[in-house]
Amino acid sequence: MTLTPVTVADVRLHPVSLPLKTPFGTSYGQQTHRTGLLIELHTTDGAVGWGESPLDTYPGYVYETTVTGEHALRDFLLPLVIGQRLSEPVDLPLLLAPVRGHQSARSGLEAALWDAFAHTNRLRLADLLARYTPGHVPLDRVRPGTAVGLAGDVEATLDRIADRIAQGYGRVKLKIKPGQDLDLLQAVRQRFPALPLMADANSAYRPQDADHLARLDALNLLMIEQPLAHDDLLEHARLARRLETPICLDESVRSLHDWRLATEIGAGRVLNLKPSRVGGFTEALHIYNFSVEHGLDLWVGGMLETGIGRAGALALASLPGFTLPGDVGASDRYFAQDLITPPFRLGPDGTIALPTGPGIGVALRLP
Ligand code: MG
Repeated sequence: MTLTPVTVADVRLHPVSLPLKTPFGTSYGQQTHRTGLLIELHTTDGAVGWGESPLDTYPGYVYETTVTGEHALRDFLLPLVIGQRLSEPVDLPLLLAPVRGHQSARSGLEAALWDAFAHTNRLRLADLLARYTPGHVPLDRVRPGTAVGLAGDVEATLDRIADRIAQGYGRVKLKIKPGQDLDLLQAVRQRFPALPLMADANSAYRPQDADHLARLDALNLLMIEQPLAHDDLLEHARLARRLETPICLDESVRSLHDWRLATEIGAGRVLNLKPSRVGGFTEALHIYNFSVEHGLDLWVGGMLETGIGRAGALALASLPGFTLPGDVGASDRYFAQDLITPPFRLGPDGTIALPTGPGIGVALRLP
């Protein structure tokens, strides 16, 4: 069945800054707010789609910021799409091709277009995404893992983990950095011997830390995420040959090309896939299909998105080729008041229900 096409009439940008219930610590520093841009896309037929670009005020995780994101969208990306008719959502990257980079900015625009397409065609976003996979059917419930930030204190970290396990999360990812790694992970492993546990370094280590990182092998981690520099696949491949613990890539993979190169040279066996890092759902689906075809492990990462971005991430994570629990946790854990109602909550079985309505399937509650 072909899709009803969409003509983009107007796109509005809404900067947001939502305080987090608890500051989130990574090797980049402490995050106290979820900033970003909401993108509201109107079609000539009256459909409205919403997307989110999870942009920070500081260029740590990626080079983009709230300021560059707004600049890239308003001055370069939006003029390429306003007034354009698209037959399918996957046609958008070709329209945006004259502009290089700015993955997070363009991912929010893409998400808004996918949502508008889904509404126009009375489809859930998950079902629209699934049309571009090899016949995969979205799951009704998604089992998330949870990410625990650097707390600076072993006891506080253990308490946070115990709290998350009590809430029903089945996999814990712990942020680490030099000086807050081995002892911390050993304490966690001692207290929770069977916990599915992984560590995320956010590029905090150097190749000469290989001996130190090899000591993590004794802790039975699911994986170590992005130990080395964001632009150094070669050293990740060398480190992978030293470690038994699988290496998962995050910052290093910004496109299907990156992921093909990484897997070809053995730089990573697992991918944390975030649509905002790879430019949107279309590129994410190319990466998904490549990973399914090659039997590679995949999970959906989180950017502490508001409920709007989270709804899109949840739709993506419902595809069965995501072999591991993703960071698409309940939104009521992050924000005192989310931008959607009701917020995403973890069910008693440790899963989140996929919304059943068209598009991202959530009701907005904008400030
Ligand atoms: Mg990461």
